[in-house]
Amino acid sequence: MLTTKDTKDSKVRTRRNVCYFVFFVTFVVVFLRGLDTTLAQTDISEADLSSASSGRTLRIGSTADGHVTVIPLEVYVSRVLAGESDPRAADAAQQALAIAIRTYTLKNSNRHARDGYDLCDSTHCQVPRPSTPTSRRAAMTTIGQVLTYHGDVAEVFYSASCGGRSERAADVWPGADYSYLVSRRDDVCEDDPAWTADFTLADVQRALARVGFDGERLEDVRVDGRTSSGRVARLQLSGMRPDVIAGDQFRQAIGAVNLRSTAFTVEKRGGELRFTGRGFGHGVGMCVIGAGRRALRGETARAILAQYYPGLELTPLSGMTIPVDTLNAAPSPQPAALPRRSATGAEADVVASRASAISVMVPPASPIAAFEIERMAASAHEELARTLGASVLPMTIRLHDTLDSFRLATNRPWWVSEVAEGTLIDLAPAAVLAQRGGIEASVRMAVAELLVAGPLAGRAAWVRIGAARYFSAGDTVRAASSRTRCPSDAELLLAVSAPAQRDAEARAEGCFARALASTRDWRSVR
Ligand SMILES: [Zn+2]
Ligand SMILES: [Zn+2]
Repeated sequence: MLTTKDTKDSKVRTRRNVCYFVFFVTFVVVFLRGLDTTLAQTDISEADLSSASSGRTLRIGSTADGHVTVIPLEVYVSRVLAGESDPRAADAAQQALAIAIRTYTLKNSNRHARDGYDLCDSTHCQVPRPSTPTSRRAAMTTIGQVLTYHGDVAEVFYSASCGGRSERAADVWPGADYSYLVSRRDDVCEDDPAWTADFTLADVQRALARVGFDGERLEDVRVDGRTSSGRVARLQLSGMRPDVIAGDQFRQAIGAVNLRSTAFTVEKRGGELRFTGRGFGHGVGMCVIGAGRRALRGETARAILAQYYPGLELTPLSGMTIPVDTLNAAPSPQPAALPRRSATGAEADVVASRASAISVMVPPASPIAAFEIERMAASAHEELARTLGASVLPMTIRLHDTLDSFRLATNRPWWVSEVAEGTLIDLAPAAVLAQRGGIEASVRMAVAELLVAGPLAGRAAWVRIGAARYFSAGDTVRAASSRTRCPSDAELLLAVSAPAQRDAEARAEGCFARALASTRDWRSVR
């Protein structure tokens, strides 16, 4: 027995000595490494980031199959960072981008409310990739830090490379006026070489046709105005209808990878167009390549953020008045659930009326009560459903507090008053609608759009929009003369100005009335 005990004791002692030794070596290694950088090579796991997320999670929707994954906020930040940053860039650049990604994520977490999740996994939102030790470390080092403007989470953007000068947000997205998203020189990018891209006129015409442009033959593409940064604001399209397109819309139509930026000149060479340009991406906000170069020359994360987002403050999330349930911990039991509250708490009061099956969300100090909007929608639905022989209940109506919130949720410019899709209606702020014919008219129009969407699915945009305007307007509509040309999809959905939008919608209504006069059945108009 004694022997056994001795053996046991000596085993314990040996183990203890080994433990001391391991502890000592670990201590020396950690201590020495700690002399270079604070969080040095400590490997942060996703489990660490998960517990550091304070229960904040995101529902990320797959654009491939619609599958929704629930991911803790800081794990998501590290995964997006892995996809967006240059893996070789120094820590300061990784940290600056982690903060920008976290800020963007919180600000845009109601972007896909109509799809039943927070953000999608494509470049439309942000693309998550498997996290790396570098990306996890940057997320952990900056944990919970966001950029704010006057106490609210700021609207920030970032793109790959600015080509020497960043872009003012409002020059890419009309109405997106932010004092801190201005056009600024970026000296670390000024010497970047130019790129060129060649496309045949036929290819460009096909790309334009895909987004709704009409036309027999595209003859030429010419720059028709530049933004303050020198990027292309508008292009003239000879031979197409409409014959003008915004620079960014053109880039999206051609393919944002094929045409790397709108900082280009274009030259016609026979049947081909040669684009010569600089930079990669829209150029608004942080320049990711530039941030890496700044870190290399010793700039801190704070200095990098000050260059790309002048005027913003770095604030810990814990000190912010973001509603606790902004990003809730549990996945929604039903994919097509109610829209989420926005990160800024702009849309707070949810009034869900079970009786009418119309849910209305209005901002906190809304000039119009939720029940009044519900009443407008219910009466419009009752009357129009009878006329059209269709129904779309339940529906959700969201009145936005600001044009920014409306634009971010719908991706439509400031001159659009309402967007109706599926069972969800987004309304521009009440004050704006009051100047545009009143909130009741907008609600009626939106309800009509939902009602005709099913029966007219797959038709040209002028048929759907024309029908909705025709039926919601009552009996003041006049049929268009036979000479009036019906608007192309692009005229209605990619208008370059408010007057162009109004003109296209009025023609859509006239065209619909003309077609209805001959067919007599609204469902067969095409
Ligand atoms: Zn998206
Ligand atoms: Zn740059």
